[in-house]
Amino acid sequence: MNSLIATSRNFRQAARILGLDSKLEKSLLIPFREIKVECTIPRDDGSLASFVGFRVQHDNARGPMKGGIRYHPEVDPDEVNALAQLMTWKTAVVDIPYGGAKGGIGCTPRELSISELERLTRVFTQKIHDLIGIHTDVPAPDMGTNAQTMAWILDEYSKFHGHSPAVVTGKPIDLGGSLGREAATGRGVVFATEALLAEHGKSIQGLTFVIQGFGNVGSWAAKLIQQRGGKIIAVGDVSGAIQNHNGIDIHALIKHKEEGASLIEFTGGDAMDLNELLVHECDVLIPCALGGVLHRENAAHVKARYIIEAANHPTDPEADEVNILSKKGVVILPDIYANAGGVTVSYFEWVQNIQGFMWNEEKVNLELQRYMKSAFKNIKEMCRAYDCNLRMGAFTLGVSRVARATVLRGWEA
Ligand code: GLU
Repeated sequence: MNSLIATSRNFRQAARILGLDSKLEKSLLIPFREIKVECTIPRDDGSLASFVGFRVQHDNARGPMKGGIRYHPEVDPDEVNALAQLMTWKTAVVDIPYGGAKGGIGCTPRELSISELERLTRVFTQKIHDLIGIHTDVPAPDMGTNAQTMAWILDEYSKFHGHSPAVVTGKPIDLGGSLGREAATGRGVVFATEALLAEHGKSIQGLTFVIQGFGNVGSWAAKLIQQRGGKIIAVGDVSGAIQNHNGIDIHALIKHKEEGASLIEFTGGDAMDLNELLVHECDVLIPCALGGVLHRENAAHVKARYIIEAANHPTDPEADEVNILSKKGVVILPDIYANAGGVTVSYFEWVQNIQGFMWNEEKVNLELQRYMKSAFKNIKEMCRAYDCNLRMGAFTLGVSRVARATVLRGWEA
């Protein structure tokens, strides 16, 4: 299903549960602003290459709009819109004073050199610099972008507006980035998993995990799960998938990847069919890559007891809605809560920049844990109040907070 239709469907269901006025529902759904820009750069060989860049600013009722910038071939207007909307509910779920936005450039970053990526990032920033800002819209890394990308945006933005570290988060530490931001999404996934398991009288220790996607989020989540005694029995990324029923040595796999080798070449596990990964026997499945990977066709074959949505919208509503997964008793921890650790520590970074005071890593991690625990408690309260599953608990929580802020601000022109 198209990602925007899928995300909006979850929103509408939450709006129905909350009994939202239809006019308010419409105003919450329509994005505040959609930006589409042409980005042409000279390639290293002197030829020209043109790309399309997007920034969708979905909602700012609760504060500056916030969200990552993605460099990926599947970046298109609907996908960016869906992801921007998810950011609005996500920042509200963890109760940080932000709205939601998302950006991206349709490109294949591994086919571009570092200097081409730098030129592309600078051109994109030149086109949107007037529309982002510390108190309006604060970008961050997402798939295909990283701290270096944020450093280029900061530098380019500062040429127009003066030095403004808080205009982006996920920056390198040397430029005002926060300790713990790199690991934050993965760490938040682990705190979220712990909160869910504790509810079921379980802990990570001794459970088996399958991780799909081994970029920043997947590798950090895997590392922290292993540190807590969880056994990662299968991992996969675009290069393929590997399994080892005795547990994959994540530390060694990360080192292997850092040396430039691909996951599939790792000898600490046996190659397996990538399509089998999501339906592999395990206790906990953690999709950490693209959206829509669990759908009508494969959902019935999922064997995990728990799905932790570290990726954005990995579960198609058709898999969810016709209850294929819930009928099987699979408990899904939804994306707008499970992967909110990244944006939560982005908020801490922004706060540190504005205060001009740097926290130590222990404080960052403790605060992150506090936010994740408190959000889980609030989601459960919504689940009880409306007799709904965790996804609707999270959506009703996020949507009701944004709705309240919108009503309080009023509509006087
Ligand atoms: N790209 C991350 C997300 O999807 C982080 C966004 C941010 O830190 O603003 O949540």
